[in-house]
Amino acid sequence: MKIKQLQVGLMGNYCYILIDEKRGLCVLIDPSWDMEKIEEEINKENVKVAYAVLTHGHFDHSRKLEKLVKKLKFPVYIEESDLHMLELDSSLVTTFSKDCILDEKGIKLQILHTPGHSKGSCCVLQGKNLFTGDTLFINECGRVDLPDSSPEDMRLSLLRLMDLDRDIKIYPGHNYSDKAYSTIGEENQNNPVVALAKKGRDYFIS
Ligand SMILES: [Zn+2]
Repeated sequence: MKIKQLQVGLMGNYCYILIDEKRGLCVLIDPSWDMEKIEEEINKENVKVAYAVLTHGHFDHSRKLEKLVKKLKFPVYIEESDLHMLELDSSLVTTFSKDCILDEKGIKLQILHTPGHSKGSCCVLQGKNLFTGDTLFINECGRVDLPDSSPEDMRLSLLRLMDLDRDIKIYPGHNYSDKAYSTIGEENQNNPVVALAKKGRDYFIS
């Protein structure tokens, strides 16, 4: 699967396009802000959209998506706990619950439920690629001071991710670093928030 990382909008959001050239299909992760740019990339690859996945329900990960969904007609998946905050017509959205496998038109993605930033925050695993949304950033983690946040859930989610294979590549939901991607091994070693998560609950919540 070929991965395209697009930076969109005013908040450094990353949208990802996972391209399955054999099937002539793609999956969109957090398509947001700039639908013209996203559609242009899809057309350039000459693929159809099998489905989209939102890593969580915050507006900056699906802003202006409705227009593209209505035009190209594809399902949009989100974890059920975040549906209430989504600014998208709920008839266009399909929910899943916690950990699961999404499988549409033969493209399978593994969902890891990683609450903390929001109750329905998820990471998407495709082979050795992990799309971490606002759970894990490079050398940082997502905010845990929002209405649906839980610092302790975030701590446990980070520990869960650090148990994955060290060579898995991490693609974050925002460009908050001078690198475009990282690995589980690098974050395990260098991420200061991960270090606090490992030290325990009292250290993590500051
Ligand atoms: Zn967010």
